[in-house]
This record gives sequence, structure tokens and C-alpha cells, in this order.
Amino acid sequence: MAAIATLGSHCALQVLKGARDEGLRSVLVCERARESLYRRFAFIDEIIPVESFSEILADGAAAAALESSGAVLVPHGTLVAQMSKADVESIRAPVFGNRHILEWESDRAMKERLMREAGLPTPPAVAGPAEISGMTIAKRHGAAGGKGYFVSSSPAEYEKKRARLVADGVIGEGEELYLQEYIPGVLAYLQYFYSPLSGTLEFFGVDSRHESDIDGLARIPADAQVSSSLTPSFTVIANSAMVLRESLLPRVYEMGESFVEASARLVRPGMNGPFCIEGVYDDEARFTAFEFSARIVAGTNIYMGGSPYTALVYDEPMSMGRRIAREVRLAESSSRLDDVTT
Ligand code: ATP
Repeated sequence: MAAIATLGSHCALQVLKGARDEGLRSVLVCERARESLYRRFAFIDEIIPVESFSEILADGAAAAALESSGAVLVPHGTLVAQMSKADVESIRAPVFGNRHILEWESDRAMKERLMREAGLPTPPAVAGPAEISGMTIAKRHGAAGGKGYFVSSSPAEYEKKRARLVADGVIGEGEELYLQEYIPGVLAYLQYFYSPLSGTLEFFGVDSRHESDIDGLARIPADAQVSSSLTPSFTVIANSAMVLRESLLPRVYEMGESFVEASARLVRPGMNGPFCIEGVYDDEARFTAFEFSARIVAGTNIYMGGSPYTALVYDEPMSMGRRIAREVRLAESSSRLDDVTT
């Protein structure tokens, strides 16, 4: 019987519950500090305790335990945030989806190249602080989860806000920031699953994010916002469910399919498994993508019992975690595990 493993964080509960629902064994690599949380859940069959997740790397203490569990490792945001490209490549257990594409979401230049290849409209980059003339968002490199990001409309405002964040220790003194036009609109994070077994793309759901403290600032009257000395940031705190106008769905599928095709051209074996295209709908209902995640996103946690979109395809509750486990189960039963892992 195949098994599913993941790191104890992010969406581990959903992934392992999904494994159990599909009749697979569930294995959790768990930092000792979090063991008491995860021991509450009876669907976790095996816990590999570690001091740090780096113990699953090639010469790490937990690598052998992971390997002998025979599990397919499901990567998520914590793995991407904590491990380098070389780390990810060194993991000996089979990784669900395409481990090589994870680097493309962490590296700003590679990320833009893949989004361009997929024909996704992206916000124009702003060359440097001196070029700021309209609303511009400054972002840190890597998956910073929105922490320390800020909006400014002139070089002077940029320098003032940057200096304040440096003084507060949020961003480093010489840290280079990436500048991009800020697109006002409705933020939407589009969740997909691509199955290399069936060659089909499934749209799984859409979520919105609650980001602190930019969301909080929007709730106070304009005069108080203007007099506030706060430099709001975009740290993700929670996700909530959304449904899109039905007329937007053709474009949603189109974008997902062109992303899958572009990935197959640039980073073999392509975008297999779960991924997310993240962006903004403007006043013309046009979507501009500022980001993608090439693996399961935490926003899928909202739909542990299925989403309005999975309900249209499956006659049973289908979470993203369960969909992953189903793909592994189907691949195993047709001796195609190599097609769904790297
Ligand atoms: P993650 O950790 O999720 O990978 P990240 O650090 O790569 O995030 P982004 O997802 O690019 O950061 O941006 C974080 C947040 O900043 C977004 O959720 C959104 O609220 C806001 N944002 C980013 N780019 C833009 C933009 N061009 N226009 C409007 N808002 C934006």
C-alpha cells in the first residue's frame, strides 16, 4: 500500500486526512514542539519526530525513516520556504508533482519567465525607486509571505517607508527590493490540479487572503489613515472562500491550461499536481497575475470538505489533499508512480 508523507505545518492535516480517506498510510515529519498538536488526529498513522525539517535531507537523521516508510512526500509552502534548490533535489523520497519547478516559484526572474511563457498578464516591473510615479508595491525576494511589503507613490515616500522598516528590523539595511506596479482590485487565488494520468486540468477553488495590517487599515476612516504613521504590511493571516462570477470561468481554465503547457516546455515534466495562480481582477474583470505557487497552497485548507467547484465534478467531498492521494493511489495501481512524482 502506498503512503503519503508531509512536513508538519501549512496544510499537513488536509494532506494526511486525504491520504486516510483514500485508504493510504499517512506519515508526518514533525518537529517535536508540534507533536502534541498532531497527536490529536487519529488519521495520522506514523510520526517521524525531528528537531528540524532539514533532517529529511540526504544525509539527515530522519531521511532513512522517511525512505523506509515508502511514502511519497507532498511538498508545501513550508518546504519551499525552508529549503534551497539543492536541499530539495537531495531528498531521497519520491516527491509528488515536479520538485524541479519549486525553484521557479522562489526565484523572481525564473518566476516571471514562466508567467510570461504562459502568456499571463503580469504587473509591469518598476526599474528602481527613482522611477516610482504611481502606486508601486515593494516586495522582498523569496517567499516572504507578504511581510515587509509596502506601497508608495513617489521616490520620497518609498525612501521614508523603507527607512522605517529597516529601523524596525523588518527588512535588512542593504536588502534589495523588487518593485512592481500596484494593481487595485479584487484579489483572487486560483487553485488548480493537473493530472498527468488523465491529462486533465481541474479547477479546485478560489480563495481570498486576509493580510495584516493592510486589511485593518482599510477599515478605518480615510482621515485616520492619512494621519497614521503606520507602514502597513501584507503578512498572510487567514484565507476565506470565494466563488467567481460564472462568466469568468472560461478564462480561469484557459490560464490554468496555458500555465500547464508553458511549464511542460520550460521545466520537465511540467506542472503536475496542485498549483495556484495568484492575482487581481480589475474594474474590467481582467485578471493580472502577480504570483504563482507550484504546489499545494494553504488556501485549499478552506475546502477540506470540498469546494463549490469540486462538488460539480465529484459526488463526494474532495479536498486537494484527497485529490493528491487519489492520484498516488491510481498511479500505483497502474504502475505509473514515476509519472506523478520526481
Ligand atoms: P507568498 O509567500 O505567498 O509566495 P510572496 O512573498 O511571493 O507571497 P506575493 O504573493 O507576490 O508575495 O504578494 C503578497 C501580497 O501582496 C499579495 O497577496 C497581495 O495582497 C499583494 N500584492 C502583491 N503584488 C501586488 C500587485 N502587483 N498589486 C496589488 N497587490 C499586490
